[in-house]
Amino acid sequence: MNIILFGPPGAGKGTQAKKMVDYYRIPQISTGDILRANVREGTELGLAAKKYMDKGELVPDEVLIGIIKNRLKEQDCEKGFILDGYPRTIPQADALAVILDEINKPIDAVLNLEVPDEELVERISGRLMCNCGASYHRTFNPPKKDEICDICGGKVFQRADDKEEAVKTRLSVYKKQTEPLIDYYAKQGVLITLDGTKDIDEVFEEIKAVLAKFA
Ligand code: ADP
Ligand code: ADP
Ligand code: ZN
Repeated sequence: MNIILFGPPGAGKGTQAKKMVDYYRIPQISTGDILRANVREGTELGLAAKKYMDKGELVPDEVLIGIIKNRLKEQDCEKGFILDGYPRTIPQADALAVILDEINKPIDAVLNLEVPDEELVERISGRLMCNCGASYHRTFNPPKKDEICDICGGKVFQRADDKEEAVKTRLSVYKKQTEPLIDYYAKQGVLITLDGTKDIDEVFEEIKAVLAKFA
């Protein structure tokens, strides 16, 4: 099953992706997580990406296209994949189409999680995350043990780009550069829009229901 999880920052892509990984046994490919790992490790890629990420701007398309191309060719994508945070621009989507055509893995569905702006701001400002990629919320989804990740036992923290200024930029970048992809995938007949304001478990139930025919 080849899936794109789509939606604005804070819509719940990472949260749902983690549940899908457990349930469907296919990998999550989060470009945000890959970039943050590079920043942490101080790679050349990480150094180049950090200045965009801190401001809430998109990292240039060539960088992301290179990352995705390599990642999709890895063995664990054989049975399928969940793209989380990619594509975010039309050129990224066009490049993805070429890559997937080469490896003969068409997209089955683009799940578009819809959440209004006010709620996105509330979610992002309360988000706590772990280096393993797990995402929590101070009030909506706190870790079971205070400040400790349920999955890996690491310490959770607030992302530098989840502070107010960068959040505003990210929402406007989403509207300008990423939202046009909704039409792009609707035209291809693969777009499935879901109400992302429901509880985490309810959203996951809907995802399982709409993906039943692909599993
Ligand atoms: P969120 O989950 O809040 O949407 P991500 O973790 O997906 O945020 O991304 C964090 C940052 O990493 C983005 O603001 C951007 O700078 C960079 N990034 C991640 N994915 C992409 C992408 N596909 N294209 C360009 N930049 C990206
Ligand atoms: P994205 O990857 O789309 O940026 P996340 O999965 O990181 O979004 O979720 C953003 C924030 O909202 C996190 O703090 C997360 O715990 C919280 N969250 C995710 N889904 C829901 C939901 N359905 N209801 C309430 N809060 C949610
Ligand atoms: Zn963790």
